[in-house]
Amino acid sequence: MHPSSDQLDAYIARTLDRSARKQVDHHLTTCLRCTLRLETGASDPARWERRGLLQRLVPSLPVAAPTPAAAEQQPRAAA
Ligand SMILES: [Zn+2]
Repeated sequence: MHPSSDQLDAYIARTLDRSARKQVDHHLTTCLRCTLRLETGASDPARWERRGLLQRLVPSLPVAAPTPAAAEQQPRAAA
């Protein structure tokens, strides 16, 4: 199964967990379509830019705020 765009973005940003990264790695060795998607996503200057001394690839856009559903799952601080 092809990884989603979100998974490929996380793969580029190196934020995927080890298991998911291995699955994407394996998939990319056999799927030209996803390899090209990865290349296109990684080279899109509107979405990614290199920053810092090490020129790490980071998202150009600010990280989205957590969804209301995710915020509700977090325990509230005692008043
Ligand atoms: Zn694929």
